[in-house]
Amino acid sequence: MESIIKGFMDLVKQRNQHEPEFLQAVEEVAETVIPYIVDHDIYYGKNILLRMVEPERVLMFRVPWIDDTGEIVVNRGFRIEMNSAIGPYKGGLRFHPTVNLSILKFLAFEQVLKNALTTLPMGGGKGGSDFDPKEKSDGEIMRFCQSFMSELFRHIGPNTDIPAGDIGVGGREIGYLFGMYKKLRNEFTGVLTGKGMSWGGSLIRPEATGYGTVYFAQSMLETRNDSFEGKVVTISGSGNVAQYAAEKTIQLGAKVVTLSDSGGYIYDEEGINTEKLEFVMDLKNNKRGRISEYVSKYPNAKYVAGERPWGVKCDIALPCATQNEVNLDDAKKLLANGCFVISEGANMPSEPEAVHAFQDAKILYAPGKASNAGGVATSGLEMSQNSLRIVWTREEVDQRLRKIMSNIHKNCIKYGKQDNGYVDYVRGANIAGFVKVADAMLAQGVV
Ligand code: NDP
Repeated sequence: MESIIKGFMDLVKQRNQHEPEFLQAVEEVAETVIPYIVDHDIYYGKNILLRMVEPERVLMFRVPWIDDTGEIVVNRGFRIEMNSAIGPYKGGLRFHPTVNLSILKFLAFEQVLKNALTTLPMGGGKGGSDFDPKEKSDGEIMRFCQSFMSELFRHIGPNTDIPAGDIGVGGREIGYLFGMYKKLRNEFTGVLTGKGMSWGGSLIRPEATGYGTVYFAQSMLETRNDSFEGKVVTISGSGNVAQYAAEKTIQLGAKVVTLSDSGGYIYDEEGINTEKLEFVMDLKNNKRGRISEYVSKYPNAKYVAGERPWGVKCDIALPCATQNEVNLDDAKKLLANGCFVISEGANMPSEPEAVHAFQDAKILYAPGKASNAGGVATSGLEMSQNSLRIVWTREEVDQRLRKIMSNIHKNCIKYGKQDNGYVDYVRGANIAGFVKVADAMLAQGVV
C-alpha cells in the first residue's frame, strides 16, 4: 500500500513542484483514500484521485488599482475552479499577502471534499489575491474589489461559480464585489454568498462557520457522554470564525480563555465573557484594531506577542486563524495539558505531525473539512433562499445548520470508526467526501 501511495504522490509532486501546501493537503487525503480505492473495484484503476487533484480550470489575472496617494498598484488575482461533478464551483475568496497558487489549490481541493460532506449540491473552488486589506482605506478596498471583479465577473455566475468570503474578505468586501458584478452584468442574482441582509444575504451566515465548528465538537463530545459545560477552551484567531466559535462556546457554558491574531495572543484567565467578546467584535470588525488592545481594556488579561495560544491549559482547542498554525510542539503541549478535543475552524491549521500526535493519543480530533463545513453549508442555504426568493428565519437556518453538522458527524463515523471503537475523523471525512464526488465523476464519464 505504501508504495502505491508513494507512486501517486511522486507523480503529483512532479507536476506541482513548489506547491507545498497543496501537496500537504493531497497527501493527507491520499493516505486515507487510496487504501479505500484499492479495496473497492468500482474506483480501482480509474485514476479517479489523479483526476480530482487536477483543477478543472485555473484563472490567474492582473488586478491594477490606484491607491490614495495616486500610485498605481498591481496585485495578482486567482480563481481555482477545482471540481464541478456535484454542483457549481463554490468556495471563498481570500485577500492576504501570503496568497499564491499553492495555498489556493490546497484550499480548493479541501473545498471539494468539504462541500460534498455537506450533502448539498456544490462543487469546489477557491480564489483570492495577494492584496493586503490591512490599513487600507475604504476607498482603496472598494477600488481594489472593483478591479478584481472587472475580470472575475466573466468566469462566475449563479449556476457556474459562486464565491464567498474567507480571510480578509468579509461583509464589506462582498458588498463591493457584488455591486461591481451587478453593474457589469446588469442582473441581480445570488452570485456571491455572505451578502448583507437587505440584499440577498442569509441570517446565520456570518455565524455559521464558528457555530458549526462548535456544533461538531458537541457531537464529538456526545460520543463520550460529555458536553461543553464547564470546560476551558482556547481559540486562535479573532476574525469571523473565531468570534462566533467563541460566542457559541460561551452560550454552551464553557470558558473561553484565549484569542489571537498574527501579532500574538491574549490570555484571560477569568474568561472572555459576552461583554468582553462584544468589545473584541467592535475592535476587530468596526475599528479594525489589533487583539493586543484587549489588555488595555481588561488589564487582568495578558498579551503574549509573537506566540500562539497552544501552551495555555485547556480541555478543548479550536484553531480558527489559518493553515499550519499548530505544529508538533504545540500538539505535545496541548496533550500534556490535558486537551482532549480539537475541532478545527480554520482550514488545515494542524501540521501532519500534529494530526498524527492527536490520533495516536486517541483524543477527539476533527479536521477542518468536516468541522468548519457549516460556513459553506449555510452559503448553500443562502443560494437556495436566493433561488426561491424567500428569507428563512434565524431559527430555521440554525436548525438546518445543526442538522447538517450532525449528518457530517454521522458520515465521519460511518467511514472512520475503527474496530477498537476509536473514530478517525480524518479518514471518515476524506472517504465520505471522496465517495460522493467519485460516484458523480464516474457517472459523468471522462470529462
Ligand atoms: P478573518 O480574516 O475574519 O480572520 C482571520 C484571523 O486569523 C485574524 O484574526 C487574523 O489575524 C488571523 N490570521 C490570519 N493569518 C494569520 C497568520 N498567518 N498567522 C496568525 N494569525 C493569522 O478570516 P476567517 O475568520 O474568515 O477565516 C479564518 C480561517 O477559517 C481560515 O483558515 C479560513 O480559510 C477558514 N474558514 C473560513 C470560513 C468562513 O466562512 N469565513 C469558512 C471555512 C473556513 P490578523 O488580523 O492579524 O491577520
